[in-house]
Amino acid sequence: MICLPGIDSKSYWTRLARGMAIPEVACPDPSCPGVLAARGWYRRYLGGERVALRRLRCDRCGVSHALLPEDVCAYQDLTLPALEAAMRHRAGPSAAARAAGEQGPAAVRRARRWLRGSSWPRLRALLPVPGSVWERILAIVGEGTGQLIRLRHWLWSKLGWFLGGPAGLFRHGRPTAAFRGVAP
Ligand SMILES: [Zn+2]
Repeated sequence: MICLPGIDSKSYWTRLARGMAIPEVACPDPSCPGVLAARGWYRRYLGGERVALRRLRCDRCGVSHALLPEDVCAYQDLTLPALEAAMRHRAGPSAAARAAGEQGPAAVRRARRWLRGSSWPRLRALLPVPGSVWERILAIVGEGTGQLIRLRHWLWSKLGWFLGGPAGLFRHGRPTAAFRGVAP
């Protein structure tokens, strides 16, 4: 699971359309000297539509990585800006769902899961400043919008973790089932 700075869900299909060359990307595994090459597509929902995202594969270690738009969560039809809007709203899941532009009981249940996200305790431990998860995020990336996108790039460049969203934090772009504590 990786993304490229500046390639978001609006520019993805003009920058990375079928038949176009992808930018050269080093294997995220720091012990591997390989380079990722285009290798098929990964289908998922985005904004309610089924889309095809690039899948890349390392020419040395053989590990595959989905290339996500920088503003999209892993495994969920949810963008980081929508999640950010929900997290800013500290008035509970109903307000969070509305802030993210969603309505109805299913949206509230979804917003509750985002706010309780299993990756937040892990993320909190990774951010070397005091406070709640959101306070730590603000301290690291500053005010303004696009904070979770900036946080995603910061985590990746500084610590080698990919922020998938509320349900995932991936070490060197790979899931970490064996995560047992603070990594870096
Ligand atoms: Zn590799």
